[in-house]
Amino acid sequence: MRKFEDSYRHKGLRKQLRDSLSKKGIQDERVLDAINKIPRHFFMDSALDKIAYEDRAFPIGEGQTISQPFTVAYQSQLLELKPFEKVLEIGTGSAYQACVLAEMGAQVYTIERQRNLFDQNKKFFYLKKYPNIKLFFGDGFEGLPTYGPFDKIIVTAAAPLIPTKLISQLKTGGKMVIPVDEGNLQRMVRITKNEDGTILEEKFDLFSFVPMLGGKTNGDRSN
Ligand code: SAH
Repeated sequence: MRKFEDSYRHKGLRKQLRDSLSKKGIQDERVLDAINKIPRHFFMDSALDKIAYEDRAFPIGEGQTISQPFTVAYQSQLLELKPFEKVLEIGTGSAYQACVLAEMGAQVYTIERQRNLFDQNKKFFYLKKYPNIKLFFGDGFEGLPTYGPFDKIIVTAAAPLIPTKLISQLKTGGKMVIPVDEGNLQRMVRITKNEDGTILEEKFDLFSFVPMLGGKTNGDRSN
């Protein structure tokens, strides 16, 4: 069960989370402001209410997780988002990351392969606040060719490799932030598509994500 009350205590814990992320090296004020604003406890079971603002991942059902706030902030910062940019997210999960990007002014197209998580988000009242988020049920390896190209792409599950179909859905000058398998962990990688068609690849820190899986679960409606 989830509870949707946002108390002074929650707000205070959010402010502390914002400050701790800033101390951990997140400098983009727009990212920090979005995290300070969005009630993260709305995105998880009320049993986790007291610990919802700890800087760690939590289970959200279907064996999936809401990413750690530091990871959300880190990926959001690497995107170097500008208002109104079109962003494709792979792995909607709880939709928390999608809300952070939407709060920063992006037009968010987000894909989830787990039917139950997709259905849950379709009914999630808090998302009504963000008409700039569009939810899709499908396989993120395919991207959304009919809605592209995108200014930015963010992958929030561990990718075995960088999917070429996603690179082809990036605009020239566009960037993709993706955690790529390296041993048991993932290396955060940022791809930039240059004017001349070449690709710049930058490597950042190691993280731990749930796997990016092919195909989708039960049902095949796409919207
Ligand atoms: N961005 C999420 C993180 C969710 S964890 C959040 O803020 O909560 C990663 C999610 O990616 C899971 O929900 C998982 O089901 C989903 N996923 C894994 N492989 C996928 C794929 N190929 N296409 C779409 N979603 C995928």
